[in-house]
Amino acid sequence: ETLKLEGNVEFKNVSFTYPDTGINAINNVTFEIKRGQFVAIIGRTGSGKSTLANLIMRMYDVDEGQIKIDEKGLKDLNLYDFRNQVGFVPQEVFLFSDTIKNNIAFGLDQVTDQEVENAAKNAAVYSNIIDFEHKFETMLGERGITLSGGQKQRVSIARALIKSPGILIFDDCLSAVDTKTEEEILSNLGRMMKGRTSILIAHRISTIKNADKILVLDQGEIIEQGTHSQL
Ligand code: ATP
Repeated sequence: ETLKLEGNVEFKNVSFTYPDTGINAINNVTFEIKRGQFVAIIGRTGSGKSTLANLIMRMYDVDEGQIKIDEKGLKDLNLYDFRNQVGFVPQEVFLFSDTIKNNIAFGLDQVTDQEVENAAKNAAVYSNIIDFEHKFETMLGERGITLSGGQKQRVSIARALIKSPGILIFDDCLSAVDTKTEEEILSNLGRMMKGRTSILIAHRISTIKNADKILVLDQGEIIEQGTHSQL
C-alpha cells in the first residue's frame, strides 16, 4: 500500500549537528504544521532554514527529538514514497542536459503534455517557454540553451508542482524572480495548494504576509512564531 500524505508536519525537540563540521545547525526546535497550512520560515543567513528543510526531506537523520509526518515518525515512512509526494524546490536549482519538458516531468512515469503545460503556467514560466523555437522540446544545458536564473528557478518550481504534492517546500527559490512574477507564482500556489501544506523559506516580507504561520529562526532555534500581524 502506498503512502498518501495528509501533510501534517511536527518537530518535537529536534536537534541536529552536521557530523563533518560539528556545527549545531538546529537546536531543540519544536513546531507543528497542520495539513493545508502555509508556513513561512525566515531568519538570518546561516540560521538553519535550509537545514530544517533538508531534515524534512530526510537528507539527514536528526540527533535528538523526532520529526513526525501525519502522526508517524519520518524514519518509519518509506523514503521513496515520501519524497515522491513532496514537492521540494532546493536553493540550488538542478537541471539536466535534456528538454524543458523532461526537466519538468523528471521522475514521473506518465505525464501528459497538458500536465507539463499547466505546471509551467502555475510556475509562471509558460510564456518564456513558448517563446523558444522548440518550445517544451527546447534542450537545456551543454547542448542547448542557458536559462536565466529566474527561469531556472521557475522550471524547478514547475517540476515540484507537477507532482500535486501533499507537501510543498520552497527553499528560498524565489530570490531570482522579480516581485511581480513572485506575486503571480504565490497567487497560483494559493489556488493549487488549497488543502495541501506549503512551507516557504523566504527573504522578502511580501512572500510571507499571507502565511498562516511564520517561524523565525536564529542560530538554529525558533525565537518567534506567529502570523505577520502578530510578529
Ligand atoms: P541561508 O539563508 O544563507 O541559506 P540558512 O538559514 O538556510 O542560511 P543553513 O544553510 O541551514 O542556514 O546553515 C545553518 C548552519 O549549518 C550554518 O552555520 C552552515 O554553515 C551550516 N551548514 C549548512 N550546510 C552544511 C553542510 N552541508 N555541512 C556542514 N555544515 C553546514
